[in-house]
Amino acid sequence: MNNQLSERINKVTPSATLEMAAKARELRASGKDIIGLSLGEPDFNTPDYIKDAAIQAVHDDYNSYTPVDGYVDLKDAIITKFKRDNDLSYDRSQLVVSTGAKQALYNVAQVILNEGDEVILPCPYWVSYSDIVKLAGGIPVEVPTSINTDFKMTFEQLEAAITPKTKMLWYSSPCNPSGSIYSKEELRGLADVLQKHPQIIVVSDEIYEHINYGVTPHASMANFEDMYDRTVTVNGVAKAFAMTGWRIGYIGAPTYIARACNKLQGQVTSGANCIAQRAVISALTESPDRAHYMVEEFQERRKLILGLLNTIEGFSCNEPKGAFYVFPDVSAYFGKTFKGKLINNASDFAMYLLEHANVATVTGDAFGNPNCIRISYAASEKEIREAVSRIEESLK
Ligand code: PMP
Ligand code: GLU
Repeated sequence: MNNQLSERINKVTPSATLEMAAKARELRASGKDIIGLSLGEPDFNTPDYIKDAAIQAVHDDYNSYTPVDGYVDLKDAIITKFKRDNDLSYDRSQLVVSTGAKQALYNVAQVILNEGDEVILPCPYWVSYSDIVKLAGGIPVEVPTSINTDFKMTFEQLEAAITPKTKMLWYSSPCNPSGSIYSKEELRGLADVLQKHPQIIVVSDEIYEHINYGVTPHASMANFEDMYDRTVTVNGVAKAFAMTGWRIGYIGAPTYIARACNKLQGQVTSGANCIAQRAVISALTESPDRAHYMVEEFQERRKLILGLLNTIEGFSCNEPKGAFYVFPDVSAYFGKTFKGKLINNASDFAMYLLEHANVATVTGDAFGNPNCIRISYAASEKEIREAVSRIEESLK
């Protein structure tokens, strides 16, 4: 039979992070000793107080369909969280709980974008942004940045990227993959540019908010009064509470956008999982600082991996201020041959490391930056040391 798949799905690139993780799993199953530094997820277990809340929810017979946009008491917990952590006031009509921040982002693209609308993506951007935008008929407009500006887009670059077709600006801060954080002043600068373009909606992905190493305090675009009505604040529990598999994310948005997301979700997945939602109420309200030990641990590992990588010639790293990735520029290796393999680009380089160092990383191409690779340091100290030593050995 001919390929009957839609043009839509044929245009989608598989998620490079998930694909690399699957490849690493496969190689491990075939007996290879692979160190996986490709997938961005905390290597901690979900804290016990959150697990207990989930177990209690099972016993309390939370088993029915949930409201499409989330339990009311979960929404109230999110309202408390936004006020406490971000000084943002949302009411229930402005919130939608989804199956992960990924679905939240997907919803927003689907309800805002028309065919041919442009979405500005400062590079590097999180792997799924461009395909989520394309799936909604949008056109990703990539704005390249480099290590020289700590991988942040300047005001001038934003101004230059805007056209009459620009409908949205999407970014994550702290950024996956660079770990960069836009300060409040920098966000204000971007907001000033946007003042001249009132049609542009901003998606501020703040899922790494709590993985912050204290250099640049977290700031939210919606915090500016003149941006509040056109900003969608995306967040979730995957990273801050080591709950990647529980699949809960959420948005705070203008009511008309939240309503539209609710309508879409009602036709696609219905409300998010009942037990996970109950557990998230605990995560967000019961002393959220209890998960802070993870950040302290990540900070130690960041120091370790930066120290180790900086001793390898050809690796050029910025200092990530948040999240748990390093994003070294490895372009110094392009055009060189190792063990008979010519490295032409970051994809070749990541593949070389997988095959010859048994270390899984992700090519920067997937994040819109072809000079870099992404290495997750959400791994044990032993794994980090071993991985870097293998990388160094393979490049001799
Ligand atoms: N945004 C960013 C920047 C991410 O790194 C991720 C990765 N998980 C997501 C959104 C999606 O989060 P979730 O697991 O809650 O779908
Ligand atoms: N956000 C994580 C990452 O960037 C999880 C993988 C994914 O959802 O694509 O690795």
